[in-house]
Amino acid sequence: MDKKCELIYEGKAKIIFANENPELVSIVFKDDATAFNAKKKQTFKGKGILNCSISSNIFDLLIKNKIPTHYIKKINENSILAKKVEIIPIEVVLRNIAYGSLCRQTDIEPGTNLKQPLIDFYYKNDNLNDPLLTSDRIFLLDLIEAEGLQKIKEITYKINNILKDFFLELNLTLVDFKLEFGKDSSGQIILADEFSPDNCRLWDRNTKNGKIESLDKDRFRNDLGDLIEAYSEIDNRINNFIGFT
Ligand code: UDP
Repeated sequence: MDKKCELIYEGKAKIIFANENPELVSIVFKDDATAFNAKKKQTFKGKGILNCSISSNIFDLLIKNKIPTHYIKKINENSILAKKVEIIPIEVVLRNIAYGSLCRQTDIEPGTNLKQPLIDFYYKNDNLNDPLLTSDRIFLLDLIEAEGLQKIKEITYKINNILKDFFLELNLTLVDFKLEFGKDSSGQIILADEFSPDNCRLWDRNTKNGKIESLDKDRFRNDLGDLIEAYSEIDNRINNFIGFT
């Protein structure tokens, strides 16, 4: 088999293939969606193309703002070329507004604006159901060193500032999002994975009959309507905005 096509890893929403250059990989965005640790599954035709487009535009924006990332370029409508990284097994969630697990685990009302952005860390481990981590547990498990964790926090706050303003221009509220980081061949910590409505909550600021509309994976998690329609709306707003600037 051509080395270029060797499958390195297949995840729930993406497939990673090797490249002739050992420092690079290609990443294919799948149409599959999972929720509740893959207990709920569905395929949405066209999701891969939409997420590839959305994520590529967001990574371009982050790179313009000097965020170090794995992203190199889009190869075709549903795949990208990226730097090969060793993924740090921590899911980094930043929240601007309380929703989801934060409200299930505390008595904060859903929809509460947080005084300041909150960063939560989760252990990227499906067998354990991605449990919430503390800094001490992160060091106990040797997931990353203190300096690296500090760097991840700094980059995450910076990404939030860039994207909160960006989505506001698109009339969207960035409620929360999940990031993953990796180490490149020189050991530098860089943003990896994707940024798409699969991994963030985006609420339309144009309310429908006074009700907030989710334009993200909550549509699938909570059966709130057509997922492709919501993801297309995000993609269209981004493309229209980019077309104007
Ligand atoms: N998230 C994710 N992958 C996960 C868990 C959460 O991308 O395995 C994202 C989710 O889409 C949301 C944010 O992280 O944008 C916060 O999710 P939360 O902890 O509230 O969990 P949920 O309510 O989705 O169970």
